[in-house]
Amino acid sequence: MEIRRDTFWNISPEMQIWFYVLAGVASVIFLYGFYRRYRLWNRGRKEKIQWKNLKDNFSYFSRLAVRQTKLKKDKLAGTMHKMIAYGFTALFIGTVLVFIDQDFRIPILQGKFYLIYELVLDIFGLAFIIGLIAFLFIRGGKFRRRMLQSKMDYLFLILFILIGIGGYITEGIRLSETNIHYAHWSPVGYALSHLFSGSMLFNGDTYLFWWLSHALFAFVLIAMIPFTKLLHVITAPLNILISPVKRTGEFDAVVLLKDDQKERVAVESVYDFTNLQLLSTDACTECGRCDQVCPANLSGKDLAPRNIIMKIRENMHENKLISSFISAEELKQCTNCSACVEACPVSINHVDLILAMRRGALPEELLNPHAEEALVHLGHDQNIWGSPWSEREDWTRGLNVPVLRDSKNTSKEA
Ligand code: SF4
Ligand code: SF4
Repeated sequence: MEIRRDTFWNISPEMQIWFYVLAGVASVIFLYGFYRRYRLWNRGRKEKIQWKNLKDNFSYFSRLAVRQTKLKKDKLAGTMHKMIAYGFTALFIGTVLVFIDQDFRIPILQGKFYLIYELVLDIFGLAFIIGLIAFLFIRGGKFRRRMLQSKMDYLFLILFILIGIGGYITEGIRLSETNIHYAHWSPVGYALSHLFSGSMLFNGDTYLFWWLSHALFAFVLIAMIPFTKLLHVITAPLNILISPVKRTGEFDAVVLLKDDQKERVAVESVYDFTNLQLLSTDACTECGRCDQVCPANLSGKDLAPRNIIMKIRENMHENKLISSFISAEELKQCTNCSACVEACPVSINHVDLILAMRRGALPEELLNPHAEEALVHLGHDQNIWGSPWSEREDWTRGLNVPVLRDSKNTSKEA
């Protein structure tokens, strides 16, 4: 018997047409949703991707997205997330190969390659399901405090699990009914095929039901991706790849923003952020790692870096004033310690966003008048008193303050 994939085993031609119609509808909804988000990002100021730093970005991508090093601290969550991410990626690549084999009529899924394909996908698929089930249980337990308990998150997890289990059920029935000699290359499906033999529920007659439900769940999930936080499966790796790689504590330079009425340095409304900054907020997985390390948040203050990111993301549909959804108090409470940036597994730079907004909030509401005056003098006269250059050192008279100019040793250590 020829070794090759029989993608539409036991599925009538009419049902195959329906499959393609539904797949088309799900793809159109997905593309429309993604395009909507893309248009919103582009309403921000234009910031170019720094392709010249591509090498840095790729090594950063390999660290964060492939090896997921930032998840190491939390071994259990890190392992589960790897199982889900690697499993998802393998299943996605597997589906693309089926598409090429079946719809482009390029016969790649046959012979030895197909056997290895089956083995790899069976193993990664199992890891995917185990990771998801473990995630489902510990979300409500160990990570209850860190994670938001949203019903949608549970729905996504259950949908993914149903899709994974549905895939194995259809495989198990097919292998049980066809008795192909290479069935053991799909170890999970093979084991199920033995369980299913003689079963009333899992046989050739019920195959259509299991196959159809598996496909429908997958289509629903594909269509939901760009309209929910699931979008992060695309935007998180994308953000890691294209966001500027910086050292911890290195902040964005102040940029002069111009509009019809005035020049300003602060981000006052949503579209004052750059396109890449807006995209980065869509990468947030709502994991709460930033909140967990934020000194302001830990000391019971209003500031929660995850909330800041989520609020920008939720208000991206129009050019709202930042002050209408983020309070000056929250912005003031940030110490710029960058702990949140360090903890974020998807490379979101909270500090640059907060500083950009705070520049607007500070002068009017937060800064005490004396400090404001001192800062203005520092900017104009390079000293906080506003003294002319010739009088800059007057305050040192009689205080025996060492002056670098008079020192013989002018090295940095001096
Ligand atoms: S930089 Fe600001 S928001 Fe981030 S952890 Fe430090 S205090 Fe919190
Ligand atoms: S900003 Fe980063 S660390 Fe914070 S919740 Fe989102 S993904 Fe997690």
